[in-house]
Amino acid sequence: MIDRTTAALSRAFAHANAHLNGLDTAPVCATADLMTLRQRLGRPFEEKGIDPEQVIDELVSDVSGGILGSAGGRFFGWVIGGALPSALAADWLASAYDQNAALYACGPAAAVVEEVAGAWTRELLGLPTKASFALTTGCQMAHFTCLAAARHALLKEQGWDVEERGLVGAPQITVLTGEAAHGSIDRAIRLLGLGSRSLVVLATDEHDRLSTDALVSHLESRKGEPQVVVLQAGDINTGAFDDFGELIPLAKKIGSWVHVDGAFGLWSAASPVKRHLVKDVHLADSWATDGHKWLNLPYDCGIAFVADPEGHRGAVSHRASYLTHDEDARDQIDWNPDWSRRARGFALYAALRELGRSGVAELIDRTCRHAKALVDGMSVVPGVEVLSWPTLNQGLVRFPDLRAGASELDHDRHTDAVIARVVATGEAFFGGTTWRGRRAMRISVCNWRTNESDVRRAVEAVKAVVCKPRIENHFDPVI
Ligand SMILES: *Cc1c(COP(=O)(O)O)cnc(C)c1O
Repeated sequence: MIDRTTAALSRAFAHANAHLNGLDTAPVCATADLMTLRQRLGRPFEEKGIDPEQVIDELVSDVSGGILGSAGGRFFGWVIGGALPSALAADWLASAYDQNAALYACGPAAAVVEEVAGAWTRELLGLPTKASFALTTGCQMAHFTCLAAARHALLKEQGWDVEERGLVGAPQITVLTGEAAHGSIDRAIRLLGLGSRSLVVLATDEHDRLSTDALVSHLESRKGEPQVVVLQAGDINTGAFDDFGELIPLAKKIGSWVHVDGAFGLWSAASPVKRHLVKDVHLADSWATDGHKWLNLPYDCGIAFVADPEGHRGAVSHRASYLTHDEDARDQIDWNPDWSRRARGFALYAALRELGRSGVAELIDRTCRHAKALVDGMSVVPGVEVLSWPTLNQGLVRFPDLRAGASELDHDRHTDAVIARVVATGEAFFGGTTWRGRRAMRISVCNWRTNESDVRRAVEAVKAVVCKPRIENHFDPVI
C-alpha cells in the first residue's frame, strides 16, 4: 500500500499542476459566492477522520471557484505577486522538511539558508553591508520589527530602557509620515504601544512626495524629542518615491530615526533602469520590504533591515536557559519577533538563485513595461481617463460618466461600476482606490507570468465593458 503522505502529496501535486496549467483559461475572479463556499466547506465536523487523499480531493472541489487567479498573469489587483517556479517548489520543501526556523539548533540548514538569502537581498537592494535583517511574515511585520528597533534606540538615547520599563511614563515618540503612507505603518505603531495619535501625517506635493518644508518645520518644532520619520519607496497608488537624498540627511541631522516603507518599491534598486528612484535610500536607519510581492515568492515573506544591528537585537532578541544558542551561528529568534516560525528563507534563496541579478532586474523592468502598456492601451479607449501614468509598475485610470451634467459622484460611481464589470468578465482583475478624493482603478503589475497576451486581454476586457451600451441605472450599480 502506498504511504499515506505520498498519496496525499501526489494528489496535491496533481491539483496544483492542474490549477497552474489552467490559469490562462480560468476566470481570474471568484465564481463561487460566500454562501456557496460556506455551504460546501461548512461540513459537519465528524467524529471520525477520513483518508488524507480524500481530505485533499474534497478540499480542492469545495474551494473551486473561490480561488482568485492571483497566481496568473491577468491579476492586477492590490500589489500581489505570483510564485516563481523554484520559489514555489522550495516552499513545498520547507513544509516537507518542517524545520522550526527559530534557532540554528532546530534547523541548521534553514538558519544558514536564511543568513545567506538575507545577505544577498541586502546587497541587491543596495543597503549597508552591516545592516541586520529579519525574514518576517510580511512588510507589516517588517515595519513592526524595524520600528521596535527605532523605539529601543530613540528611548535609550533619552535614558529610558523600554524593554524593561515599557512605555508608561516614557518620553513620547512622534512618527512623521506623508499622506501616501500605507495603513500598515499606523498598525505597526498601534501594536508597538505608541498609539495612532503619535502619528503626524504631513502634506505631500503634486508628485505624492513628502513636502520638505512640512517635514523640516515639524522636526524643528519638536527638536530634542524622539522622532521617527517614515518615508515611502513606492506608494500603492502611483508608485511615488520620497526624495531620500534631501529628506534623510535633514531628518538625521535632528536626530530622528528614518524608516523606509519599500514593500515593493525598494526592489527598484535591483534594476539599473529604475535605480535612480531609490537614490540615497541607503542613508536611512531601517527598511521594510516584501519578498511575496514583486520578487514573486509565495506567501508569506517580508524582510526587515536595520542599519544598527545592536538596536535591532536590543529590541527583539530573547535568551532563555532551555534554548540552545549557538556561539557562531545566526539564531533567527534574535532578529525576529516570532518564536517558532516557518523556514521561509528557502523560497527567498531559491528565487534569487533562479533569477540571478540580471533576472531580478529583468523582472522589474518587464513588469514596469507591462504596466505602461496597460495604461497606454486603455488611454486610447473613449471613456477612459488616465490619472497617473506608470513611472514604475503602478498606474491609475478613471471612467468618467459621459452623460451630460454628470457630477463627481457620478464619475466615482461609474468608475466603481466599470471596475466591478471588468472583474466580472473573468478576463482581468483590477481593484479600486480613492486618489486625491476621486475614485480610480488601480493597475498594478507584479506577477512574473504577465506577458503581452495578458496585457492585450486585459485592455480588451476594459474596452468591451467601457464601450458596451447599457441601460444606466445609478441606483443599482449592477455588477
Ligand atoms: C503591501 C504593502 C504593505 C504591507 O505589506 P504586507 O506584506 O501585506 O504586510 C506595506 N506598504 C506598502 C507600500 C505595501 O504595498
